[in-house]
Amino acid sequence: MKVSIDQDLCIGCGICLDACPEVFEMNGEVAIVRIDLVPPEVEVSTRDAADQCPAEAIIIEE
Ligand code: SF4
Repeated sequence: MKVSIDQDLCIGCGICLDACPEVFEMNGEVAIVRIDLVPPEVEVSTRDAADQCPAEAIIIEE
């Protein structure tokens, strides 16, 4: 599973970091992905982050 963030949509709320700090981190005003390939053990929390993102900025590719 791959994940990325649309930097134009992200509003920097930080919800994804709370949901899955293994994958997401802040870079100034927006969130970025720390690792492109999501380890199986954090796939569920990565999906939770995408579901909770108010800007729908998190893109998951299976
Ligand atoms: S939850 Fe969405 S809008 Fe909020 S920081 Fe993460 S990617 Fe950006």
